[in-house]
Amino acid sequence: MRGRVHSIETFSTLDGPGIRMVVFLQGCHLRCRYCHNPDTWSYSLASTSYYSSEELMALVRRGLGYYRNSGGGLTFSGGEPLLQHCFVCEVFERCHQEGIHTALDTALYVPPSRVQAVLPFTDLFIADIKHIDSAKSRWLTGQSNDLNLANIRSINAAGTQLWIRYVVVPGYTDAERDITALAEFLAPLSEVKRIELLAYHTLGVHKWELLGLDYDLHAVEPPQADEMQRLQEIVQQITGKPVYVS
Ligand code: SF4
Repeated sequence: MRGRVHSIETFSTLDGPGIRMVVFLQGCHLRCRYCHNPDTWSYSLASTSYYSSEELMALVRRGLGYYRNSGGGLTFSGGEPLLQHCFVCEVFERCHQEGIHTALDTALYVPPSRVQAVLPFTDLFIADIKHIDSAKSRWLTGQSNDLNLANIRSINAAGTQLWIRYVVVPGYTDAERDITALAEFLAPLSEVKRIELLAYHTLGVHKWELLGLDYDLHAVEPPQADEMQRLQEIVQQITGKPVYVS
């Protein structure tokens, strides 16, 4: 089996614990209006690379000293890596055989069977919540959040660790009632070890223009630091969990 790969970063400190290799898989079925990687949407671009699990493992082994000594490992990101769940399983199973930590950065808007398939080989899910309100999720991403929230609950019930990421888009995802509902959803989930509130930014807008796509959020400004801090305090108070802003 070969995976469709958009790009590879060999020294990331952002996508899971420690130093990690991050493999961005090609293809995404969502259409988030703030997406900063719309070049990952298509299932195959001319620039897509194809890797076997052995070829990827050879790359991981090259940096193994850094990854192991820092408590890091391998992260699959995207696009949506669970569109290639069989490939993820194959690589993560090999990682586990070699004692390498595995993390999956996913929106989880996928059938539960795909999550169940990767669960035994995934140490950490870095899961997005796009919007806690289903209708607003549909507007923001093209799909309701039913699968997203159900998958988060089932990963938690399986006892696998989760980090949650939520993009704060002023005027769209930052209403206090939505932030409160988000925190109330997360509070009882014991495996949610970390919550990250990410400030909306416009760094990927040029990609939309290059791809000839209409970007709807031109009028939206990134949130102020004090507003991010206010939302952080709300989520921290309700959940009692570590909440980070960036
Ligand atoms: S899930 Fe990620 S890659 Fe897919 S559209 Fe949303 S932000 Fe972009």
